[in-house]
Amino acid sequence: MKITDIISALDAKHPGESEYRQAVMEVLVCIEDIYNQHPEFEKAAIIERLVEPDRIFTFKVPWIDDKGKVRVNLGYRVQFNNAIGPYKGGLRFHASVNLSTLKFLGFEQTFKNALTSLPMGGAKGGSDFSVRGKSNAEIMRFCQSFMLELWQNIGANTDIPAGDIGVGGREIGYLYGMYKKLARENTGTFTGKGLDYGGSLIRPEATGYGALYFIDKALAHHGHQLKGKTVAVSGFGNVAWGACLKATELGAKVITISGPDGYIYDPEGIEGEKIDFMLELRNSGEDIVAPYADKYPSATFYANKRPWEQKVDIALPCAIQNEMNEQDAQQLINNKVLCVGEVSNMGCTTAATDLLIEHKVIFAPGKAVNAGGVATSGLEMTQNAMHIQWSAQEVDSNLKEIMSKIHDQCVKYGSQDGGAYVNYAKGANIAGFMKVANAMMAQGVV
Ligand code: GLU
Repeated sequence: MKITDIISALDAKHPGESEYRQAVMEVLVCIEDIYNQHPEFEKAAIIERLVEPDRIFTFKVPWIDDKGKVRVNLGYRVQFNNAIGPYKGGLRFHASVNLSTLKFLGFEQTFKNALTSLPMGGAKGGSDFSVRGKSNAEIMRFCQSFMLELWQNIGANTDIPAGDIGVGGREIGYLYGMYKKLARENTGTFTGKGLDYGGSLIRPEATGYGALYFIDKALAHHGHQLKGKTVAVSGFGNVAWGACLKATELGAKVITISGPDGYIYDPEGIEGEKIDFMLELRNSGEDIVAPYADKYPSATFYANKRPWEQKVDIALPCAIQNEMNEQDAQQLINNKVLCVGEVSNMGCTTAATDLLIEHKVIFAPGKAVNAGGVATSGLEMTQNAMHIQWSAQEVDSNLKEIMSKIHDQCVKYGSQDGGAYVNYAKGANIAGFMKVANAMMAQGVV
């Protein structure tokens, strides 16, 4: 395989899709050696087939706002790869969404889902619709219009959407309600559903919980412990919330959260009712964290800045792709950061990732560290198929076990320096790739 040839071919075919190119490149660099040891992969054009989504649905989503004005957004579903199970992945509603974003997310999702060891393929979808400043009625009308177009292409055994940025419990409810009406079936074609209609306990917390289980293991593997460590978190949505809860429970101290307006620094720790307040801020629909500093005198608000300038032991980007760049990474390294976990998908630029690994920072890549969310979606699918609901404890212990196995797979393929350091990015990419590639090989050229 010549990575440069593959990337130039992709650039020629899909010019300007920079995030998609970045995600593909990061995987190819890590798997190059192992791929070249398998001539049968090359013969079956595994890479060429793996980097292209199976299919993409693009559609317009017309809806009427509260003033009676007709608005139009774009909707997408990228069904990336179903070699190991039905397409599975979230929907993102955010003004920044375009095809490049969703292709990168669908590509990542394919490997992430493979790592969970559950039978799920990879997909992603969404819209450039922003929930910010919209009323409940507007969000409902948008979700219904979105579903009117998408419903025929999804199903409990074909493609199971879920939430992502801008798509939480409320949106899933509206989307699933319309889906059921159109499809006339109720087998749980969405995950992240409410507890009263087939949802799973622990699903809202799962991405953050899973991330901290993984970080805990990674630290222990390198002779450290989470207890007593300071943590910088970005974002203040569902994922950041779960991360703050579990980090605090495991004895660490979270000292930052952030929003599009800037970040909060609270050296006394963001814990207890302060974590609940974070959700209040999120649900206010204003998308700002500044009011936290008005409420809690121990906190300072830094307008239009990112939390990576603070000295911390652990940094957890939990907001959006490429939110940590090379300068941020350098700043963290100067401040002796021990560990960075990409709880957001591709939270670090390639240059940031490379720098952190070069400096032997424990770096947990998104497809491993944030896999707890989709893994728990998989557990929701299992409960739906069995027509039962597990206890929180049962879901949580399954989640913990899955995160531990993901960690072990990364160690297996990513250990270096005689086992003293694990390159988790390499380990996760190889482990995920091998599973998908072997499944594709077994199923012929399809
Ligand atoms: N959007 C989440 C992710 O990036 C969850 C997807 C799911 O539960 O299907 O993994």
